[in-house]
Amino acid sequence: MNNAVDLLQALIVNRCVNDGSPDSGHEYRSVETLSEFFGEPGQVFEPHPGRQSVLYRIPGSDPSAERLMFMGHLDVVPVSPTGWTHDPFGGEIDDGFVWGRGAVDMLNMTAAMAMVFRQRMSGSQPRGDLLFLAVADEENGGAYGAEYLVDNHWETVRSEYMLTEIAYPAVAGVAGPTPAINVGEKGPFWHQLRSAGTPGHGSQPYGADNALIPLARAVTSVAGSPTPVIITDDWRSFVATLGLPASQKAGLVDPDLLDETIDEIAVTDPFFARYVHACTHLTMTPTVFNAGGKANVIPDDAVASIDARLLPGQDEDTVREHLAKILGGDAESITVELVRTSAANSSPPTGRLWESLLDAYELNLGDRSAAPTLTPASTDARFWRRRGAVAYGAGLFCDRVSFPDFLTMFHGHDERISLESMDLTVKFLGEALAAFERRSP
Ligand SMILES: [Zn+2]
Repeated sequence: MNNAVDLLQALIVNRCVNDGSPDSGHEYRSVETLSEFFGEPGQVFEPHPGRQSVLYRIPGSDPSAERLMFMGHLDVVPVSPTGWTHDPFGGEIDDGFVWGRGAVDMLNMTAAMAMVFRQRMSGSQPRGDLLFLAVADEENGGAYGAEYLVDNHWETVRSEYMLTEIAYPAVAGVAGPTPAINVGEKGPFWHQLRSAGTPGHGSQPYGADNALIPLARAVTSVAGSPTPVIITDDWRSFVATLGLPASQKAGLVDPDLLDETIDEIAVTDPFFARYVHACTHLTMTPTVFNAGGKANVIPDDAVASIDARLLPGQDEDTVREHLAKILGGDAESITVELVRTSAANSSPPTGRLWESLLDAYELNLGDRSAAPTLTPASTDARFWRRRGAVAYGAGLFCDRVSFPDFLTMFHGHDERISLESMDLTVKFLGEALAAFERRSP
């Protein structure tokens, strides 16, 4: 394997599909691929058979100096193959793109970071440790990957700075394409709504206590009601960089005008509108609904899963207050059961690593402006941010896929990354690393 594209293809072909079950993932395959790529095995962690993560380290001369870690995940989500025009696990190159599950989430970055790290391995000794970590299980919460490592091997995987997800293409800026640096992510608040009833014969519904009915009303309210808005400072900085009409830019930072501005943007750019909505609102998405088991039995239990996502400044109370408000008379009979939650988190768009990324953008684009973005999903960066690390996602992409189109490829059909974007990102990350080392305090 000579370059990042070769490695990316091999990682796609390894089919490390994480379906949420402990025995899926099979990340050991890609850990083996990485050991071929680096020409040596790394430090392997395997908290469950087959669920391997691997760490490579270039030890620094000063153990107390700040560390930088490149972190990528090895697992991918399942596919619906009928929606693809290329084999999702073929790693084919066609029309200047590498096609396959993981091509943007995030095997492209895992491969590009591995390439930069391999190049750096033959250089002089750094001052602080440089780390490359490839983890299992990002797509199901990290219990067999990042979370396990941070909880059990913190001193080994500790780092003050980290580059990881999500690297986005440039946004349409005031003076042309403006690079995006991901600085934070929303917090998932997965919960279930449940209603109880009394079983009975489906032939006699009059006055029956059918658990399905109030829950169906609740789910409709959840999906149809406006949700609480927060305009963060990072969001203001992001909007300031956008090449939109002044009236739309004003609307995007004004809670009273926000929703109508999003509707306006949706007319021409529905995917961007969806992103804007997610970055400014508590979102509440009904995803699973279960009630009843037989066509002639009135159900006594109904349950719906809601994927809610919190902005910085929102918490469990935000969700509970919102539900109390929108459920009306049903609020008392519907219980809210927490499934999984974690707080929104972000790193400030300032400091040593931020400036290093701007150095690298300046070399390539002649300009130091960048748009700080928020990702509506969650990533493994949160485990390091919780312990005080600064974590960003950044790359350099060609203009063949726009920022909004890129967003639709995450967990979607026809995931692909251009060969040019792979080359640009490897170059960019190498320059960012060099700048980071130059900026040693
Ligand atoms: Zn990912």
